[in-house]
Amino acid sequence: MNLTLSGNLTEIATQGTAPLFSAPALIVVRDLLKRYGDLTAVAGISFAVQRGEVFGLLGPNGAGKTTTVEILEGLRARDGGEVTVCSFDPATSAADVKRRLGVTLQATALPDKIQVREALALFARFYPRQADIAQLLKLVALEEKARSQFDTLSGGQQQRLAIALALVNDPDVVILDEPTTGLDAQARRELHQVILDLKRAGKTVLLTTHYIEEAERLCDRVAIIDHGKIIALGSPRELIAQSRGQSRIELRTTEPVPLRVLRQLPFIESVTESGGVYSLRSVDVSRALIALVKWLEVEQRELEDLHVTRPTLEDTFIELTGKRIRE
Ligand code: ATP
Repeated sequence: MNLTLSGNLTEIATQGTAPLFSAPALIVVRDLLKRYGDLTAVAGISFAVQRGEVFGLLGPNGAGKTTTVEILEGLRARDGGEVTVCSFDPATSAADVKRRLGVTLQATALPDKIQVREALALFARFYPRQADIAQLLKLVALEEKARSQFDTLSGGQQQRLAIALALVNDPDVVILDEPTTGLDAQARRELHQVILDLKRAGKTVLLTTHYIEEAERLCDRVAIIDHGKIIALGSPRELIAQSRGQSRIELRTTEPVPLRVLRQLPFIESVTESGGVYSLRSVDVSRALIALVKWLEVEQRELEDLHVTRPTLEDTFIELTGKRIRE
């Protein structure tokens, strides 16, 4: 099945689990266009984000993710298309959008000596609606750092503070632009937990990322974006299921098994062997496994080891673009 989609909004709107236009979407982007001189950075993007969704823009560096979110935030002017955040156009109703939107940029600059709680209180003062600061500190797991100065925080803690700052106005929509770039694996996991907690708290989140596993783990739906265009949109599970990516069964047996026998089993597409490990590719892994186990039982062969590897969004991305997301 070919995953490539046209830029037609009706077609895109039916992709994924959320019914896009049944309730007013909190973010609507329609045929968005942005040029920098001769370069078309965003070439007719359309998507909508429903209340309570975590929606991901996944794409390599330079794909047009930041440009798209900066237009949503009212930081950049667009050259074409329509955009609304909570039903307001950021180009003409910036103040209305600002009140309802929380944003973390790729880097957060704060005075070195400002304390965590102090920074939150300071930012909150700019808004009529304010979140409870103690709750925010809890959400981002910085309660013990409330009195610590910004320059003493680790990269992960600074990024979690950036998320808390984005929430001081108790926004309806939160935009996180590459929130985990540059963080180590542990800090990234902690930040993922914060984003999952945000979702549990009912926040609507638009997340840009070039980490496949992040999109797969956190997002209800993902738009894969490349060269300023959305090339696929749906839940991670749907995108993976629609791809031609095959599951792999790896097994080791106590005694060797002829490859031709394995190749004749139903639902097996290909078989290779390396160092005593047989690697079987299948498009219907459940049925292939049943056939394999039955054959082993009849032939009284013993299994030493068995692994099943499912295709990932990375496989989908490679299939659609012919390249890895980070090259
Ligand atoms: P990254 O993850 O690196 O931020 P991205 O997907 O967010 O990538 P954008 O930052 O939106 O991509 O950039 C899209 C394209 O537009 C890139 O080719 C980039 O070089 C170009 N671009 C971005 N900002 C400008 C600018 N102010 N002037 C000229 N070109 C720009």
